Amino acid sequence: MSKKNSGTDADRAYRMRTKLIHGTFHSKCWDYNHHIIPPMSASAAYRLDSVHRGAQGFTEFAAEGMEENQPIYIYDRLQEPTRGLLEENLSSAEGGEMAVCFSTGMAAISAAVGILTGAGDEILAHHTLYGCTYSLFTNWLPRYNIKTSFCDLRNLEETAALINEHTRVVYLESPVNPTLDLIDLAALCRLVEKCNQDRVKERRIKVIVDNTFATPVCQRPLSLGADLVLHSLTKNIGGFGTDMGGVVIGARQYHEPLLMYRKDFGGVLSPRNAWPILVYGLPTLAARMANQQKSALHVARYLEKHPNVARVMYPGLESFPQHELARRQMVNYEGKFAPGSMLYFVLKGDLKEASEAAERCIDYLAGNAYSITLAVSLGQIRTLVEEPFSMTHSALPPEVKIAKGLEPGGIRLSIGLEDWHDITDDLERALAQT
Ligand SMILES: *Cc1c(COP(=O)(O)O)cnc(C)c1O
Repeated sequence: MSKKNSGTDADRAYRMRTKLIHGTFHSKCWDYNHHIIPPMSASAAYRLDSVHRGAQGFTEFAAEGMEENQPIYIYDRLQEPTRGLLEENLSSAEGGEMAVCFSTGMAAISAAVGILTGAGDEILAHHTLYGCTYSLFTNWLPRYNIKTSFCDLRNLEETAALINEHTRVVYLESPVNPTLDLIDLAALCRLVEKCNQDRVKERRIKVIVDNTFATPVCQRPLSLGADLVLHSLTKNIGGFGTDMGGVVIGARQYHEPLLMYRKDFGGVLSPRNAWPILVYGLPTLAARMANQQKSALHVARYLEKHPNVARVMYPGLESFPQHELARRQMVNYEGKFAPGSMLYFVLKGDLKEASEAAERCIDYLAGNAYSITLAVSLGQIRTLVEEPFSMTHSALPPEVKIAKGLEPGGIRLSIGLEDWHDITDDLERALAQT
């Protein structure tokens, strides 16, 4: 047995940045002692030694205590080793007890909500959400008689007033996509815990946090009281924009329902997509985030001083309205302030003027900028720009968007790994058009 597998070294308190590169190396999923790079499996079905063993695999699948046994692989959609390795490392990155990976972020969101709600139940969600999440909650879940109410989860009185006996899930993103408003996770979870005191176990409200924007490097919601954390792996964790994926992470009690849901709804992450996230994405996440957020602060400071910019939202700026909360909530594994790599800014003028200026600015970038690309998605090594009002958040009603600070003149930037001087130089030329 190699040193890495002997347990002694791995048991030492190595820092998370190191752990994200080396993984657990103790996996029950696969004995890969002599690999440096985890292997990639490609097998839809698995050879079984006997009917007895096949039967045991089916009985043990998703059953309590399954983590303690060597897995019996039967069929990719149930469980397979490459994805299993990724799940172990993702769970460790968020401080969870288990992780279950899905084909996309939306499949992960559907599963997290799917295992916690049934007909007659209600979700209470923050008013601003990723466009497809909003569409899932308002177009599809009502067909199953699952209703969603929206409120400002920053306002705990309003939140408490809207929680009723049917509420089963409180759902949010923080920072909110794209406005970057923050929700005080610890305070919200305390409120929910209080509401749960006089509820039977089966009716307790669970808090689900979409942590895609921050990544576990900048914020770990489970440590602040959340029940489930989820990610679009397509974004920062994948990091290179090559593959789609999603994950739900939390306590062991959710492992069985999530695996059963994934087995039957079928939105499983392919091992071919799991592999680049396991080999390139997660191991470089901490280094990429540290570098990108340094650049994001430079870009935010540059934009803040620009005469054509009305306001800049970046949790790392002293002028950020919730800067104190940002400093408390968004911290890296060492406890240092980690405000992330996303920023949002609004151009000057009334709604119409600002909207037209934003379009000129973004179109200029699309046609001329080398370091900034017009595209949806985020968290890649390339800096991406988009206009949320008409693009990613087009599913939300316009009056709701404007009331919540998501105006037509707003521009979202996802800062990549380029030299930040090139990013501000490209922005300088584009802002001259506004
Ligand atoms: C992209 C995104 C999703 C959806 O993820 P997909 O992988 O595209 O399905 C969900 N939440 C947030 C915050 C996102 O940015």
